[in-house]
Amino acid sequence: MAAVELRDLLHYPFLPEAQKILASRGISVAGLSKTNPGRNYLDKAAERVVYSIDGKETYPSDTSGDNISDIVTYVLARVLVSCTKDKRTVERFVRAEAKRVFGYLRQEQNQTIKARVCAEFGISLDATRLTVLQYVEMAANIREEKWRLINREVEGGYVQISADELEILLSEKIRAHLGSSLPLAVPGAVEREFAPWTDKLLMKTQERTLAEFGVIDESAYPPCIQTLIQGAAAGVNLTHSGRFSLVSFLHVIGMNAEQIEGIFARSPDYNPDMTMYQVDHILTNEYTPPSCVTMLTHGICVSKDATCEKVSHPLNYYREKKRYLERKRRLEESKAKKAEAAKAAGAEKKEAPESE
Ligand code: SF4
Repeated sequence: MAAVELRDLLHYPFLPEAQKILASRGISVAGLSKTNPGRNYLDKAAERVVYSIDGKETYPSDTSGDNISDIVTYVLARVLVSCTKDKRTVERFVRAEAKRVFGYLRQEQNQTIKARVCAEFGISLDATRLTVLQYVEMAANIREEKWRLINREVEGGYVQISADELEILLSEKIRAHLGSSLPLAVPGAVEREFAPWTDKLLMKTQERTLAEFGVIDESAYPPCIQTLIQGAAAGVNLTHSGRFSLVSFLHVIGMNAEQIEGIFARSPDYNPDMTMYQVDHILTNEYTPPSCVTMLTHGICVSKDATCEKVSHPLNYYREKKRYLERKRRLEESKAKKAEAAKAAGAEKKEAPESE
């Protein structure tokens, strides 16, 4: 196989060759914050993660003349997101990096490097069909009905796919590949050393979550979550999956530990120590709430309503319902203002002196 050149590795820094370059230049992660160039790399790596948290653009290539910067920042960014121990931060980073790689790969003119990267992912950029096994693996995380194997055209052990579908599946495959080794097991000393950068990233993720979900609106909770809250308040012993779904949902939409514990405190059998332990465990591990399919499997998808038909995740329900309630509130406010203005105009007319 032809050698991969340095400029290629800047686009595909996950290739093993990239790691060798760092080793050959004597760059090691531990102690990096003690030098100016090291801190500079850490700042850039954090910036790379912030790009992914914002979810707006793909992190641009370094133009400072440092020909290994994009490799170093990729490696460090992986360490930083791992130090956050925050699943949302890790997921956003992986999604953004997968998008970046896929963008480069789609435009790649060098057929050798294209083949090398595809081999790394075990994919082909011009497939028109996939084996059932490949398909199931690549489409595993796509929730739309049309992707279910039962809804696909299968012939002789192969699933037919269009060019557009292949792009989606490839992005999924790249995402899965890049995320498969995250979070990394980072030594405690490195975690402590990188804490100033990690803390900023956690704050950024929290800000982003608040911006995404806004002020908490209980009236937008999906029926499953409302049922779990009512159960918790009534002292019903929630199943493990019920408790997990409720706590992780409330945390992702912006509630802190005290607020979540407050919900369980409404129960007549409230046990502060046990509740605090369970809530902290879920929050520390930054789990994300399960999808509707999983909720259904665990018997906690209940009292579905019309909005449920449009979503595949309780968080999407919440977003959707919140938007709807917001629109409704604005419409009512505008109607009330118009009615007020009409009333004032009517009163003015009455007060105006009659013409002779
Ligand atoms: S469909 Fe989803 S959002 Fe609706 S109740 Fe079931 S799990 Fe909750």
